[in-house]
Amino acid sequence: MTMNRIALGQFEIHGLRDGFFHLDGGAMFGVVPKPLWEKIFPSDSQNRIRLALNSFLINTGQSRVLVETGIGSDLEEKIFKHYSVEREPGLVGSLQKLGFRAVDIDFVINTHLHFDHCGGNTYKDAKEKYVPTFPQAKYIIQRGEWEYALAPSERDRPSYLKQNFMPLKEHGQLQLVDGDYKIIDGVEVVLVPGHTSRHQCVKVQSAGEVFFFLGDLVPTSGHVGLPYIMSYDLFPQQTLENKKRVFDQAIEGDWILGFNHDPDHFFGKVRKEEKKYKFVPLQ
Ligand SMILES: [Zn+2]
Repeated sequence: MTMNRIALGQFEIHGLRDGFFHLDGGAMFGVVPKPLWEKIFPSDSQNRIRLALNSFLINTGQSRVLVETGIGSDLEEKIFKHYSVEREPGLVGSLQKLGFRAVDIDFVINTHLHFDHCGGNTYKDAKEKYVPTFPQAKYIIQRGEWEYALAPSERDRPSYLKQNFMPLKEHGQLQLVDGDYKIIDGVEVVLVPGHTSRHQCVKVQSAGEVFFFLGDLVPTSGHVGLPYIMSYDLFPQQTLENKKRVFDQAIEGDWILGFNHDPDHFFGKVRKEEKKYKFVPLQ
């Protein structure tokens, strides 16, 4: 396990975790044959691999921005079992360990609205009603992703659960954005399609240093190699082009990258060796 906290210029960024879940290894690595991916991600008897539900807390001093909210506490029992979800202590518990309460969060960013990225946006209150977990936060979501989530295709319909995002609108906490958008000084969302048509990444800059959260563009350090693209991606060719573009910028600017589903690394860098991109852990 590498570090779970970095200083970025004047900012502080924490890697924290809602828990773990399990997905089919073949689906996670697309066209890459099993003998190659199972060296890095051993699979269980159902061919599943264990993936993390990583979130990031950006503390600028003035504002606290939470990126991704994991799978959440109120997943239907059937789905919870299906993915063998492990949640202890969960995202809010992990925040508390760092000394933050749900009410301290000013902004929540979801890269997209699949349930493993926004499940913790809401929780069931005492009246069994879904309400926003972070009562003071604006939730930043791409308008195109929101519209798609309301009417998904047959291919990814099971990934969109309305209780994860409809309550945000009902409580006036939804902030829809179109494309690249600056949230506060030093924190912006950047449209990077491929996984979905309106998937967004997060770019954080302070005192010349850059942190870039990859979201599902590159879910783990095992997906840095160019052909390592998930079968879940709706537009895999766009994922490929965007990986190359983002990695080249990251190498040029010495960016620190953030990984969504990596069980071992919150942070890392990439380097290029004989035309191949390689993951470099942070020391
Ligand atoms: Zn995901």
